[in-house]
Amino acid sequence: MPIATVNPANGETLKTFDPLGAEEIERRLATAAATFRTYRTTDFAERARLLNHAADLLERDQDDIARTMTTEMGKPLAAARAEAAKCAKAMRWYAGNAEELLADEHPADAEVKDSGASHARVHYRPLGAILAVMPWNFPLWQVVRFAAPALMAGNVGLLKHASNVPQTALYLEDLFRRAGFPEGCFQTLLVGSGAVEGLLRDPRVAAATLTGSEPAGRAVAAVAGDEIKKTVLELGGSDPFVVMPSADIDRAARTAVTARVQNNGQSCIAAKRFIVHTDVYDAFATRFTARMAELTVGDPMAESTDVGPLASEQGRADLEELVDDAVRRGATALCGAARPKTPGPLAGGWFYEPTILADVTPEMRIHREEAFGPVATLYRVRDLDEAVHLANDTPFGLSSNVWTRDEEEQLRFVRDMEAGGVFFNGMTASHPALPFGGVKRSGYGRELSGHGIREFCNVTTVWHG
Ligand code: NAP
Repeated sequence: MPIATVNPANGETLKTFDPLGAEEIERRLATAAATFRTYRTTDFAERARLLNHAADLLERDQDDIARTMTTEMGKPLAAARAEAAKCAKAMRWYAGNAEELLADEHPADAEVKDSGASHARVHYRPLGAILAVMPWNFPLWQVVRFAAPALMAGNVGLLKHASNVPQTALYLEDLFRRAGFPEGCFQTLLVGSGAVEGLLRDPRVAAATLTGSEPAGRAVAAVAGDEIKKTVLELGGSDPFVVMPSADIDRAARTAVTARVQNNGQSCIAAKRFIVHTDVYDAFATRFTARMAELTVGDPMAESTDVGPLASEQGRADLEELVDDAVRRGATALCGAARPKTPGPLAGGWFYEPTILADVTPEMRIHREEAFGPVATLYRVRDLDEAVHLANDTPFGLSSNVWTRDEEEQLRFVRDMEAGGVFFNGMTASHPALPFGGVKRSGYGRELSGHGIREFCNVTTVWHG
């Protein structure tokens, strides 16, 4: 894949970049290693000062970087601005909380005595240079949710961003440099995915985090496993959105639209499978379909646009294949299932209409695969058991959404949902204070909160005889 900015709203190539050569990669790895030796000794107050400064700069740059993101991957401009604001908030949260999250832990006196120690504690130390392999869909947020805790813990970062967001990737390196982080604390490596194995095998790289597809996760985890290096994997998702009879159907239908089409439908935690109790199925389906059909698809730079283009031509082709396969096998399209007629300058863009497919059966590919675009599948279930079964009938396990006001039902979903999150009467969203991550093919490890910052720490036992 060439490293280039290609505007998905019209297919125009705006800027291409040469990948870094071997010499430059070597120089940057050496810089990362050298910087880590000193940066690891800085205190939390100094790291927090730098990260808060980065947050200030990001807020100042909000409009410009939002335009860059929209140009590179097509998300509506308002969503891009909101993403930048969310990143600044996460930076401030880690700047303010990291010291407490990584404070020494003191086991109970009796336990310490039992271990034969006069005193003992658990102490968190940084690991080193962490390689971050990141996707284009939230091109700032995915990186910041790794970088903010990693830098606060005393690690240094090496970013291999997706090849279609090079300008956002370079912006991030520049942002941390302008904030005052020492050279080598955060470096962007403009390289293709073929360079990742070499980077990961380099002894100066301590660990890796990857957000992206299952094949990419498997490839990185295999190399990391061979090198015995820690990884965190945030992979795909096909989150269920369950609606039970006690739900507020109107609110559920409104939220369902946002949960499905946010980020042009290209979010790992988007609700993708809508599982609705038969008592409220018709009421939900009517409202959901009406609202999906009235969304405005078009120029992501326009404030009136709800859904922009897909990020790549291949992404749209993959989505079309999933929809066509389902329709061929008997699914019913309640809306969409086609490219919109986009006239004029946007005719070359990679748009797709918001789509709902009903009558989906297990032999259709879309039942098991992730639909990475504005396409929802709708299922009718008879009872709670069937809802839980269907919700879990997927290789993925990222998050889940359940609409019910019945407390007994809520307990059952908390017990049985095979996912890293259960969100009631709302949609899944990340927050710095709450852990984020999945089970099954959605990956392992957690980002955000105290769990996230400790992933790339050496949890050290300090024992005194
Ligand atoms: P992708 O193709 O897997 O790319 C993600 C990153 O991995 C890119 O930097 C890519 O580089 C790199 N990559 C691809 N193949 C690789 C390989 N064999 N070895 C090493 N690196 C490799 O994914 P995407 O299409 O950008 O993103 C969509 C996927 O990400 C969806 O499945 C989505 O659900 C998932 N996602 C998950 C989360 C989460 O938090 N769980 C969040 C967002 C997205 P190139 O660009 O150079 O190919």
